This record gives sequence, C-alpha cells and structure tokens, in this order.
Amino acid sequence: MTPPSQLSTQEIQALDSAHFIHPFTDHGDLATRGARVITRSEGVYVWDSEGVKLFDAMSGLWCVNVGYGRKELAEAAYQQMMTLPFYNSFFQTTNVPAVKLATKLAALAPKVGDRSFQHVFFSSSGSESNDSNVRMVRRYWDLLGQPDRKVIIGRLNAYHGSTMAGASLGGMSAMHAQGDLPIPNITHIGQPYYFDDGLAGESADEFGLRTAGWLEEKILELGADKVAAFIAEPIQGAGGVIIPPASYWPEIQRIVDKYGILLISDEVICAFGRLGHWFAYEKFGYKPDLVTFAKAVTSGYIPLGGVMVGNRVAKVLIEKGGEFNHGYTYSGHPVACAVALANIEIMETEQLPQRVRGEMGDYFGKRYAELNDHPLVGVAESCGFVAGLVLVKNKHTKERFVEDDAVGMICRGHCFSNGLIMRAVGDRMIIAPPLTLTHAEIDELMRLIRLCLDLTQQELHQKGLI
Ligand code: PMP
Repeated sequence: MTPPSQLSTQEIQALDSAHFIHPFTDHGDLATRGARVITRSEGVYVWDSEGVKLFDAMSGLWCVNVGYGRKELAEAAYQQMMTLPFYNSFFQTTNVPAVKLATKLAALAPKVGDRSFQHVFFSSSGSESNDSNVRMVRRYWDLLGQPDRKVIIGRLNAYHGSTMAGASLGGMSAMHAQGDLPIPNITHIGQPYYFDDGLAGESADEFGLRTAGWLEEKILELGADKVAAFIAEPIQGAGGVIIPPASYWPEIQRIVDKYGILLISDEVICAFGRLGHWFAYEKFGYKPDLVTFAKAVTSGYIPLGGVMVGNRVAKVLIEKGGEFNHGYTYSGHPVACAVALANIEIMETEQLPQRVRGEMGDYFGKRYAELNDHPLVGVAESCGFVAGLVLVKNKHTKERFVEDDAVGMICRGHCFSNGLIMRAVGDRMIIAPPLTLTHAEIDELMRLIRLCLDLTQQELHQKGLI
C-alpha cells in the first residue's frame, strides 16, 4: 500500500470515509463532502493537504495555547520515551514526571479563602476527569456519613465531556437524546446567557443574580441534604462562549456555601492562561473544591487531563478513605506528564498568562469589541483569549435567525474559504486562539473575521434572509 503521505487528498478522504468514525460527525454528510485533511502546522497556522494555509483561531480544539511547532515539547516526549515510556501508578509505584507535575500544579493553583490545592488526580481527558469527579464527590459524602447526598447539579447547554457521566453532567439536549442520558441523580438549571434571556430593563448584574438564584431554587426543590455538588464551566465554552455577568459567580459561591455543597469548576478550556490566569477560578474569585483540567495542560500535544483536588475533599478521601477503587491505566502517564512540565515551562518563560491578563489581552479585547459595529453582530464579547459573537437578522430589534437558516454554517464556510478557522455554535461564532498571538496576528485575525462577516452578510442578502 502507498504510504499515507503520498496519497492524494481524494484517496485519503475515501479511506477516511471507509474506516474512520469521527467524533460528533454526520457520516452521510462527511462522505459526500469529504473531510478536510490537516497535514501540518506552525505557530498559529495549520495547512491542509491541498496546501491551503488556515489561521487556527480555535487552537485546535481550545488546546494549543503555546502555538504549534514547539520543539521543546517534542524533545521532552522523546527524552521521556527513551527513559521510561510508560509505567503505571497503581500498586505502590510512581514515576518522576507525574510527581513533578503534581507538585508543580499544586504550586500554580492559587489558594482562595480556606481552599488550597495540594493534590492532583490524573486522567487522559476532560471527560474522564469529570467521571472521576462524580466518583470522588459521591465517595466524599459517603465517607462523611451522608450517602443521600447524591445529586449533582449542572447547567443546560454546558459541556463536560462525552462519556456517560460527562455527557450527563453537561446539558446538551442533543447528547441527552442519544443513549438514555442523563444517568440518575444528575439534574440541570439554566445558563446565564444575558443576550438570550435577559428581560427588558433588566441589567446584566440583575440577570446574573436571578440566574444564579436558579441554583438555590433547585437545591430547595431537591432538599439540600440530597445535593452533593454543583458543576459549571467558568465561561461556557462549547455552548458558544457564554460569559456570565460579574454578579453571577459571587452569588453561586454564596449559595453553595450556604448549603454546604461541593463546587466543581470545569476548567478544561479556561485554565492554563486562557483567561489570563493559571486557573480561572482566580479570575472570578470563587472557591471550588474540585477543578477539572485537560487540553492546554499539554497544549494538546499529547492527551492528559486531571482534577485538582482541594483540601476539603482531599482530607476526607485521603485521611479517612482507605482504598479508592478508581483509576486509569494512564493516570500519571510519564510521557504526558513530561510534556506538560515542558509546556508549563514555556508558559512561564514567555509569561503567557500575564500576557493575556495584561496589554496583549487588552489589545485583543479592544480589537474584538470593534466587531460590535458590524450590522450582523448582536453582541461581540471576549474574556482573556476566548471570544464569541452572535449573528442577528436585525441589530436593533435583536431579531434572530431560525435554525434552518444555518447562519453559523454559512459564516463558517466563508471562514474556511478565506483561510480562517472559526467555530460555529448555532448562531454564535467563537474563537480561542493561541496565547502567543502578536499584535500583527491579532490585526490579521480581526481583518479576516470582518471579511467573513461581510461575505456572510452578502450571501444572506442574496438568499433573502436579511
Ligand atoms: N469539559 C469541558 C469544559 C470541555 O470543554 C471539554 C471538551 N471540549 C470536556 C470537558 C471534555 O474533554 P475531552 O474531550 O478531553 O474529554
């Protein structure tokens, strides 16, 4: 058989269609149109098999925070593979990169109030980490003699992964519709999406308080002695970059404190500099008990995930718990941990969180906010290096497109055709670029976004949709 690199695009597409089941993909559709074959990368760009260069404003899938082409990460993987490619951490064994990484993460996680993070549980993905959270939370309440505290409350339109527990914690109706989800003892409240649900005359802060109040209502409806934990993303990512009003998180904190329930911050997207901090709870000032991470811990160069286990939970699990019957073959994988350490070193040397928190983040936010003047944009908002805008029929009345208009897909099509990768979530267009962007790259990105919005507007005109 011809080596894959010598196959034509059409040949790769045919083999892809014949053998590769893709995540979240309609395969009928994929077979007709053929997959875009991404073959190489450098900096903030990727190239496809036809040589087309694309500005990757999604950092792969919210992962590649240090950008592509980092030789240090390849070197770290190579060295570790030559030294110890794998060993497990069951049966009273450990390995040096996993110990070093756990120590490093504990040092990076800021202490807030009475919460500190001295312990880390490792997995290979965000989904697995959230499954581990369910296990840890239930075990915690069992050990405290409150086994009835089982219910975990999540939010509609949240994304916490694709395993049975991850998809159940998430609030994606399309996922729940397949496979009898959610699993028992997981329930949801609404999301704080001000543009969608803010009432006439209601300020963003009033809205934030009202929507956080849904948590208290749900706790009272279930009975506080039945509730184990609340899980949420600091900013909802896959749901379309929904940035909560400033009043939201402090009110959530007041409520979880009042009823003594655990708080899980799912920072699979928001940690490692994305919002200008190592961990995003610091940005919003709340005090989680468990923090889920994955993706940018290695900048996506190799799979790794985990949970920062706060002192409140660790004390019970470790001091009272005896054996915790849970773990993965790849918990603390030495190569993944070595790459994570090298990745964090790059972030520290180049001060990437500080960059996003400082002048570069300000510049990005200022340039992005300029998109608010575009006739198709209902509102364009960013936080650190994550941003989203909503496409509207009428800016003044806020009239929305209907699902059948597929406005996000139209816009995404123009992005691809013009060298830009931007993600569509319904009528929202979202980006999460590498944290290394220069001023010139930010300018280029904004020029491309505006061009694609203009082309989308033209097409919508031609179709009579605006
Ligand atoms: N939580 C959040 C907030 C995520 O964004 C994601 C992935 N997009 C996950 C969990 C699941 O991570 P993974 O795909 O690595 O399982």
